[in-house]
Amino acid sequence: MISSFADLGLSPVLVEALTALGYEEPTPVQQASIPHLLEGRDILAQAATGTGKTAAFALPLLQRLPKTAPEPSKPAVLVLTPTRELAVQVAEAFHRYGRALGALTVPIYGGQEFSQQIRVLRRGVHVVVATPGRALDHMRRNTLDLSGLMAVVLDEADEMLDMGFADEIEAILEAAPEVRQTALFSATMAPRIAKIANKHLRDPARVLVEREATAAGEMPKVRQTAYVVARAQKVAALGRVLDLESPTLALIFCRTRNEVDALAESLGGRGYQVQALHGGMTQDQRERVMKRTRAGSVDILVATDVAARGLDIEQITHVVNFNVPESPAAYVHRIGRTGRAGREGVAITFAEPREHRMLKNIEQLTRQKVEVARLPTVLDVRNKQLEVTRATITETILAGDLDSYRVIVESLSDEHDIMDIATAAVKLAHQAEMGAVEEAELEQPELQRERPGVSQRSSGSSGPRSRESAGPRKRSVGMSRIYIGSGRKDNMRPADLVGAIANEAKLDAKQIGSIEISDRFSLVELPEELVDDVIAAFRATKIKGKRQTVRRDLATKRG
Ligand code: AMP
Repeated sequence: MISSFADLGLSPVLVEALTALGYEEPTPVQQASIPHLLEGRDILAQAATGTGKTAAFALPLLQRLPKTAPEPSKPAVLVLTPTRELAVQVAEAFHRYGRALGALTVPIYGGQEFSQQIRVLRRGVHVVVATPGRALDHMRRNTLDLSGLMAVVLDEADEMLDMGFADEIEAILEAAPEVRQTALFSATMAPRIAKIANKHLRDPARVLVEREATAAGEMPKVRQTAYVVARAQKVAALGRVLDLESPTLALIFCRTRNEVDALAESLGGRGYQVQALHGGMTQDQRERVMKRTRAGSVDILVATDVAARGLDIEQITHVVNFNVPESPAAYVHRIGRTGRAGREGVAITFAEPREHRMLKNIEQLTRQKVEVARLPTVLDVRNKQLEVTRATITETILAGDLDSYRVIVESLSDEHDIMDIATAAVKLAHQAEMGAVEEAELEQPELQRERPGVSQRSSGSSGPRSRESAGPRKRSVGMSRIYIGSGRKDNMRPADLVGAIANEAKLDAKQIGSIEISDRFSLVELPEELVDDVIAAFRATKIKGKRQTVRRDLATKRG
């Protein structure tokens, strides 16, 4: 029997916020954690990312926040996270859920100016989400005072230990008030996690949540994808795939030492922190690379098989085969370096058209599916860049300290619509952040026909009228586009859209123009006079089992 958010004891204000966000029912980790945390109990929870763990601790803690304004530099809740990205994500979640309660949250991490963080802390916030090193720095400067803490959350505790934050965590917990609530979330329950729990948690409720199995069966620990690409475009394709995947740490395998050096240099030029590992290095050099890598200051390691031997780094999120490995055994060995300790890993293989068969051999021998994906288009890259800009703007809003700019907005708003002002500012921020935009599409080699065992995602074979384009196109005369908020990541295929338009809007499929499916959304070109009808019909129905966000595609209107 699944209970609702209200059944778990959450207040109507929070329940309303969740409904507005489209959360229909609590996930298992939320069902198991929220009642305990609302009671003020400690919890020890084993739950991976993607299970809804953030809301599991954010919601009850928001509800338990004191109703008073926060005191300067004295938050009521401190959440520790391993990385800057997670700190921002978690702060954003607190902000989203707690807005109606007036809860103030700030993310605090290394690399950002102290002065700005200090200003926000002094003004007073209810919730601080911090990386351990930076939290400790602020405590030492007396700009973060833990004496008013009601609760501490250790999020992704195993990851924090992997990153070498054990001492910082210890020092922070020692400095927190003895009477407080503590929640520890971790993907694994290694002995060193149990040790922290024994020492710092009081009679915790234990929560164990397996990652939900997908409909197709058990979720693979390593997502395996291949791209088929002409040799001349391999480096460009790799760069683009990396930009889209934004790995925390990628290990890229090359065949030769020269290839390692050349690739390391060209990825370095793309703005990544890259280290090469090859047989010609001394043990000292190698250890230095390892140390920097473990400290989190490396994005990409480029190595030969030999140089990577004995490499044991838990944080590797992506293994990339720049060439198809010689044997299936080598492939299995390589991809085993990611997806450690219950976390999901990603394995990406670049194959030249003539190597396509080798992929099939690997699939057969490993009995695992390697999905052949379409190369990212310019549209995919742009969308990703827009996502980054969006995240940067959210971070800036959360960090506060915007008063000196508010004046400009106010004076502009006498003459312009606020929406236009904001849009123009976003455009400028985006251009400043992203610099030159890539324009050239990569050439997608024709693949041989789909064979059993090798699936071709988005291969354009999903229906007689499939016209998924390779990238953004100009609109045809008299046609407008509609936006549907699901894309390739949601398994949306051209045939789903054509089917929905034909069935729900009672349109002839011949009237549909081009269809573009990118990772997170789709665009369908339709005769202008039919757009409103199709939008109305789509809003009244479900596509792919889900109510979709459907609207006119304004972003590309002037394009
Ligand atoms: P997390 O495991 O905290 O990283 O959350 C994974 C994703 O699930 C986030 O995008 C949340 O916004 C979303 N989410 C969390 N709880 C729910 C829920 N009860 N219903 C729908 N989405 C949820």
